[in-house]
Amino acid sequence: MMVVDQRTSDADINKWAEANNASLTQAIANSVWPRFSGHLESARSQPIDKLQKASKTKSLNEEIRTLVAELGVLKVKLYETGGMTVFSTQTSQIGTDYSKNPRFLKSLDGGFASKLELRKKFGAITGPLSDRWVLSSYIPVRRANDGKLLGVAEIYRDVTAARLEAAKSRTARAIIIGFALAVVFVCLVFIVWRSDIRLTAYHLREIDLISSAADAEARNQAKSQFLANMSHEMRTPLNGVLGMGNLLAKTDLNDRQTSLLQIIGKSGQALLSLVDDILDFSKAESGALTLNSVPFKVVDCVSDVVDLLLPAAEEKNIQLTCDISIAGQETVQGDPKRLRQILTNLVGNAIKFTDSGAVILSVDPGEKSDTRKHFRFTVQDTGIGIPTDQQSQIFDSFYQAESSAARRFGGAGLGLAVTHQLVNLMDGKIGFDSVEGKGSTFWVEVTFDANLESFEPVDQQHSKDTSSLTQPNDTRILLAEDNEINRLVAIETLQDLGHSVDFVENGQDAVVAWEQGNYSLILMDIQMPKMDGLEATRQIREKESLQNGPPVRIVAVTANAYESDREDCLSAGMDDYLSKPFTDEQVSTLIDRWLPQLPQGLASSEEMESSALH
Ligand code: ADP
Repeated sequence: MMVVDQRTSDADINKWAEANNASLTQAIANSVWPRFSGHLESARSQPIDKLQKASKTKSLNEEIRTLVAELGVLKVKLYETGGMTVFSTQTSQIGTDYSKNPRFLKSLDGGFASKLELRKKFGAITGPLSDRWVLSSYIPVRRANDGKLLGVAEIYRDVTAARLEAAKSRTARAIIIGFALAVVFVCLVFIVWRSDIRLTAYHLREIDLISSAADAEARNQAKSQFLANMSHEMRTPLNGVLGMGNLLAKTDLNDRQTSLLQIIGKSGQALLSLVDDILDFSKAESGALTLNSVPFKVVDCVSDVVDLLLPAAEEKNIQLTCDISIAGQETVQGDPKRLRQILTNLVGNAIKFTDSGAVILSVDPGEKSDTRKHFRFTVQDTGIGIPTDQQSQIFDSFYQAESSAARRFGGAGLGLAVTHQLVNLMDGKIGFDSVEGKGSTFWVEVTFDANLESFEPVDQQHSKDTSSLTQPNDTRILLAEDNEINRLVAIETLQDLGHSVDFVENGQDAVVAWEQGNYSLILMDIQMPKMDGLEATRQIREKESLQNGPPVRIVAVTANAYESDREDCLSAGMDDYLSKPFTDEQVSTLIDRWLPQLPQGLASSEEMESSALH
C-alpha cells in the first residue's frame, strides 16, 4: 500500500516513486533476472515475434506481475545492455530498440533517469488506463554478488493517487494555515483596534487634560489679572485715605481729632495689609510668586521687623525682644523683602494673640557651608496658644483657630497661608509648638546662598549712583499723576519734605514738560490717560539718547504691586519703583536716594508751591 500522508510536495512524491522503482529493480536483479538470464541474454538473437510469444516471456510476465501486484506499478520493461527491449509487461513492445534513448544511455552510465508525465491513455499491466500521472525510471540492473551490469529496467509507476492525496493534504494544510493566519490577523486587528481605542481614549484624555490645564491656566491668569486690577483699584483710594490722614496729622489737632485720625490710619493700614495678603495669596496659587536674589544682611531684616512692630507691642504693654546670633551679620544672597514679610507675619501674630508677657524673636545659625547659610528663626510668645485639635489646619488659607478669637483679634486667616507658601518657595521649613493658654513658638528654617562677592547694600548702591550724578541747575521734581487725590497726597508730602513740584496729568504732557523744564527727578504714575508712564519713560529715554545729555531720574509711583510691574518699569528705563500707598519715610528715602543735595535756600516757601503744567 502506498503511504502518501508524509509527502505533500510533488518533488517528494517523485523521489519516493523513484526510490520504490529502484527497490523493485533491485528485487528483479536479485531474483527474477538470474532465473530468466538465459532467456534474456538470448533474446537479441531471436526473432521478435517469437520472442514476444515465447513461453519464457509469458512466465516472466507472470512473475513480474505477481511481484508488482498492488504496488502501483503500471509497466515493467527490461533492456539488455545494447538497448534492445528484451522484456515488457506490454509484450508488443518487446524487441524495440532504445540504444539511442538518452535516458537509457544515462542509466547505462549508472545514473537514474526518471520522468513524470500525465498520460491521457496508458496500457498498464491491469489494462488500459486514462489520465494518469506516471513516473517512469530507467535504472541499471546489476548482479547481486559482483555488481556486473546485466541490463536496464524501466519501471512505470502510477503516482496519481499520491499526487491527489498530497494536493488534498496541501489544501488542508493551506486551509489550516489560512485559518491560523486569519485568526492571527483577526487577533492583530483586535489588538490594533483595542489599542486604537485605548490610544484614542488616552489621547482624548490627554487633550482633555491639556485643555483643562489650559482652562485652569487661563482661569488662573484671569484671576491673577482680576486681583492685580482690584489691588490697583483699592490701593489708589487707600493711598488717598492714608496719605490725607498723614497730612492731616501734621496739622494742629485736638486730642480727640488725633485719636480719631489714628483709628483711620490703623484701619487703612489693616486694609492695606489685607490687600497685600490677598494679592500674595493669589500670586502663590497661580505660581506667579517669585523670589528676588540680592545681597542683604539678616540682621537688617530682623531690625526692620522689630522697628515696625515695636509700637504695636508697646501699645499692648508687651515686651518685644530680639536675640540674634553673630551669623545674622553676614551678608547672604536672597529675598529680604519676603523674609521681612515672613517675620512680620509671625511676630505680628505673636503680638496680636498675646495679652501680656513677651514676644521673643531669635535667630540661630545652622550648619555652615561655604556656599549656603542656614538660619532658624524662632518667634516665641506667652499668648493664648492654639488648641491641639485645631493645630493641623493652622496653615490652611482663611483658617482661624477660634472664631471668637478672630473677632476679638481681627485678621483674615491668610497670613500663615502666605507665610507657608513663601517658606516653601524658599525651600525652607515652617512649624510650631503651642500649648493652649500658655503660648506658641513658631519657627522657620531657611537657607540662603552665601554672598561671596564684596557686599554692597542696595541702599549704598543707590547712594553711589546718585553721587555720580552731575549737579543740576535746580532740583525741581515733576509729578505725572492723573488721580487728583493721589496727586494732592504726593504734592503735599513732597512739599512737606521741602521740595518744589510741578505736575502733569498724563504721560504725553510729562514728555513735553520734561523737554521744556529742567527736572532732576520725575515721579511717574503708570496707568494714565493718553499715554501711560511706561511709554512716556521710553520716549524720554529715546530723546535723551539723541541729545546725549545726562539722564533724568524717573521713579515709578504706582498702585501696581506685582513684581513683574517693577520689572516692566525698570526695563522701560525707570530707575526705581515706589508702590502706593507710601509713607513719608519711603518718599524721603527715595528723594535722598535719587535727588542730589538741594542747593542752599532753594526750598524757600515760595518755591515750595506746586504748579500745574498743561
Ligand atoms: P490671621 O489673619 O487670622 O492672623 P493667620 O493665617 O496669620 O491669620 O493665622 C491663622 C490663625 O492661626 C489665627 O487666626 C489664629 O487663630 C492662629 N494663630 C496664628 N498665630 C498664632 C499665635 N502666635 N498664637 C495663637 N494663635 C495663633
